[in-house]
Amino acid sequence: MKRVNIPQPHQLDVVDVPTPQPQAHEVLLAIKAIGICGSDLHTLEGQHPFVSYPVYPGHEVSGEIIAVGDGLDLGLIGKKAVIEPSLAEGTRPKFEPGRYNISSNLKVMGFQTEGAMAEYFAVPFERIHLIPERFSHEQGAMVEPTAVAVHAVRLAGNVAGMDVAVIGAGTIGLLVAQVAQAYGAMSVTVADLDPNRRAVVESLGMLAVERLSPKSFDVVAECVGASLTLASAIHACRKGATVLVVGVFGSDVMIPAGLIQDWELRLLGSLMYVGDDYREAIRLLHNGAVQTERIITHRFPLVHAPLAFETALQRGASLKVMLTNP
Ligand SMILES: [Zn+2]
Repeated sequence: MKRVNIPQPHQLDVVDVPTPQPQAHEVLLAIKAIGICGSDLHTLEGQHPFVSYPVYPGHEVSGEIIAVGDGLDLGLIGKKAVIEPSLAEGTRPKFEPGRYNISSNLKVMGFQTEGAMAEYFAVPFERIHLIPERFSHEQGAMVEPTAVAVHAVRLAGNVAGMDVAVIGAGTIGLLVAQVAQAYGAMSVTVADLDPNRRAVVESLGMLAVERLSPKSFDVVAECVGASLTLASAIHACRKGATVLVVGVFGSDVMIPAGLIQDWELRLLGSLMYVGDDYREAIRLLHNGAVQTERIITHRFPLVHAPLAFETALQRGASLKVMLTNP
């Protein structure tokens, strides 16, 4: 079968490897759609701090179960499923056992263990979620980033009736905005400097701006990961508001800490998701509260992965680039 390998920074190959066989309690998925994520691009560019090469990427994945290992029901064969790529065996934070997303031995498929950017992938049954038959596999591949957004918005608490802002209209920002809208936010405003991305925001029925006005929002989600955007997220807060730190920061940044103190702001980090966020993401995609058609901008067959990554690296021109298998 074909599989994508990043043997070292700045090199990406589609290689031939043996098709895996499912072990006990594993399912074999015929992978149908795989999203390319910003963190996959960081891996390719040698900027991901938590990987060692070679890396087999692929964590936004949808497929069909075509075989099962010992101990699993043959009735699973033919069902559609998505992978929850976090592996967090062993120690979990003592203060809240359910938060395996911040376990100290968290490993993520596609980064610290092998990912599923391939034609087939064998995975423990407990790491998949079944999706409804009428889900497309492209929607399936969007469950993972949608779960990131669900987790972040849920951390903010009840956003119903609130004025919510998002900085950065990339995939995650657009999903955070839609989840906030689904949860009854009074208004959702998305800031991005790119006019094409603002057009996508408007097509989803939300307000698009270049910059957020100061002192205007109850919840501000920073989905960029940069010094200026985090500072403007803080300035955009009303007193007592919440800043959600969803963007991934490559270095330390300066922030107006005085405002956090004086305005009693809450600064909340959000990492990945847990299983319940996955189930909620599937629900929101299934009932149409979260739309992905405008977010998926490009599709390539798996064998054209090098071109797909090149396209995704031109960040302004693309949002979600999807790899597909027939
Ligand atoms: Zn990702």
